[in-house]
Amino acid sequence: MRIGVLSYQGDVSEHMDMISSTGHEPVPVKTGQALSSVHGLILPGGESTCQGKLLMRFGLDAPIRERIMQGMPVFGTCTGAILLARTIAGSDQPRLGTMDIEISRNAFGAQVDSFETELDIKGITDDERYGRGGFKALFIRAPLITRTGPDVEVMAAFGGNTVLARQSNMLACSFHPEMGEDARVHRYFADMVEEYSRISKGVGI
Ligand code: GLN
Repeated sequence: MRIGVLSYQGDVSEHMDMISSTGHEPVPVKTGQALSSVHGLILPGGESTCQGKLLMRFGLDAPIRERIMQGMPVFGTCTGAILLARTIAGSDQPRLGTMDIEISRNAFGAQVDSFETELDIKGITDDERYGRGGFKALFIRAPLITRTGPDVEVMAAFGGNTVLARQSNMLACSFHPEMGEDARVHRYFADMVEEYSRISKGVGI
């Protein structure tokens, strides 16, 4: 499976390595041509105002939105989750806005307030297929998902707030599963991509 990583800015190489470790092919995505060749897309962590502006400048926002609407799986981590959110508290910065969540940026404070904790993740840490046991999650100037729409499933929470959620083909998390050795969240996403590619066979991707 070819899994793209939006490659303008942020922790692109960590995601590429994780994709390789799941046995799939990582593809850097900066252009519409690269986008059209992938079965799924990861939006990495970094800086969301910067990435949102670059998406607009390179004209990739509309094509990504269209692929998402057609069912392509997308996984936003940290900044990526901010780009997916329909509403960003107190901000009208550029975004994709496809997922029915509200997000609050830098909800834990500044860089010095970055931390690691162990999470239970519904559908992953309680599932034999991925291997049981808590997931070590690293939060770096992390956002929080402060509202989830009726079609959004909360998969993990921290301190009463959502930190990993899924709506159909969209997965958003506030932490950094690409940092460290544990590939379970990426394996879960790769399974979403495999399922999509099975159904979409015949539509030319
Ligand atoms: N605070 C960053 C933002 O608003 C996100 C941080 C991250 O991706 N680690 O974009």
